[in-house]
Amino acid sequence: MRIPVVQNFNCNSYTKTNANNSIHRSNLLTNSMLPKFGLNYKNDLKNGDVISFTGVQPKLGAIVKVAPLEDRLASIFQVTNIGDLVVAGPSLKEVQKSLRDSVDVFSDVIKKMFFVKDSSLDGTMAFLRNGNYENEFVNVNKFNIELNSSLGNYIMKPKDTFYLENGDTLSLGQTKLKFKKEPDVDLSLVRDKFAQVFDFSDIVQPAIEKENKKSFKLLLKNDKTSQRTLSFKDVGGQDNVISELKKGILYPIKYPEAYENHILNKGFILSGPPGTGKTLIAEALANESDAYYKKLNGLELESKWVGESEDNLRNLFKEAIDNQPSVIFFDEFDAIARKRGGHDVYGDKFVNQFLTLMSDIEKNGDSVYVIAATNKLDALDSAITRSGRFGKHIEVPAPDLSGVKQILDIHTARKPLADDVDKEKLANKLFDLKSTGADIAHIVNSAHGQAFERLGVYEKMENGTFTKADAEGIKISQEDFERAMADFSKKLNVRRPIGYKN
Ligand code: ADP
Repeated sequence: MRIPVVQNFNCNSYTKTNANNSIHRSNLLTNSMLPKFGLNYKNDLKNGDVISFTGVQPKLGAIVKVAPLEDRLASIFQVTNIGDLVVAGPSLKEVQKSLRDSVDVFSDVIKKMFFVKDSSLDGTMAFLRNGNYENEFVNVNKFNIELNSSLGNYIMKPKDTFYLENGDTLSLGQTKLKFKKEPDVDLSLVRDKFAQVFDFSDIVQPAIEKENKKSFKLLLKNDKTSQRTLSFKDVGGQDNVISELKKGILYPIKYPEAYENHILNKGFILSGPPGTGKTLIAEALANESDAYYKKLNGLELESKWVGESEDNLRNLFKEAIDNQPSVIFFDEFDAIARKRGGHDVYGDKFVNQFLTLMSDIEKNGDSVYVIAATNKLDALDSAITRSGRFGKHIEVPAPDLSGVKQILDIHTARKPLADDVDKEKLANKLFDLKSTGADIAHIVNSAHGQAFERLGVYEKMENGTFTKADAEGIKISQEDFERAMADFSKKLNVRRPIGYKN
């Protein structure tokens, strides 16, 4: 691999100082560099006959020999970018070993590694160009290294890191190494003679992308939840279901250390009439446990996944495993895992694949939980219900009177209610109507609509005369609720419960 050659920083003086225009690299290294040379270094170059003054190409290998390690390293620092690691050591093998032993200390992804072999070193010197564009020294050795910096003197223990300033000195046994951002001599033309480059960018870039995608996903998720996060407080009358799910999912996610030797059940079936809050509870659970949440609908899947269902299922589980802890919620689960009869869409293969994936997460101890909701428990494929993979069946019943009261409180909490509203009376009536949570949410919203009608709000909106003061005057009265309930019960005989799909 070729090491990039940077623009020679002495280029200008090089051309100017050549009176006879006989431009040669040797002149560059002598004339222009002389003011920068330390005395010995300069003499070394001359006495060692490295540089010819007669326009003859200098022996580049010889220059490398006399260039001190700190200059060779500095020459590499001129071309490093964020994520590049520069290491010097007596052998590549030794360097590999020290890096492997201290891999946990690197928080940046290494994109390129430059190795400089120097047999005089008794250990490994590692410099990382970090995300702040600083040159960070990382002690990857098993022994201390002394750092004399402008800020003070430090003993750097194994795995300590410190960013370096020009002129800082590192002492490693007998070797004293001065950190320089630029070498005294321009070594750009000979870099490939003293440094070996390992370029990992092609390998790490896709991995970085993948990790970034995850971060962005979290960002989106947090953004969504920061608006208003559903929690168990938004669920009324289902204390038993919540308690079961807390014990089965929330606590194992929040306190994994308490469950180290437990075999955890990963599959939960919630069964009950539509509109009782199964979806709501699953979403609240995912939020409460800060888990990655994926909701799927069996009916949609049926049409979307025909022909490639197994692959999609595998990808879905992979996504959940990659983002764990996670909760997968299957609504209308019976549509994909129904008893097989004449019109079987997926067949054994799909159900078997599903059970295998469930068993894998169980075996690997992944923090992935599957909640399957159905209105028709007895329609589920018995391979699913009997497998033990869905070990927990929880009934989500229509609310009792106290549940109705709680749900009414939840749905009216952010509504403007008039003083005459008698919630006790409303709750009794709603219970008599056998209202589910979804029904109650619907009735409260229609009562709000009734208030709009009664106060002529829609009319004002139509005429464009609606003002902020009008908005503040809207209050839902008992009568608005009575009307909404009357409308609801009128449809009761012919209606199917809200959300009910045959
Ligand atoms: P399911 O999944 O059982 O069919 P959902 O959770 O989709 O029912 O309920 C639909 C809506 O009805 C919810 O978003 C919520 O507004 C309301 N709802 C249902 N059950 C409850 C409940 N137990 N407590 C509060 N609101 C509920």
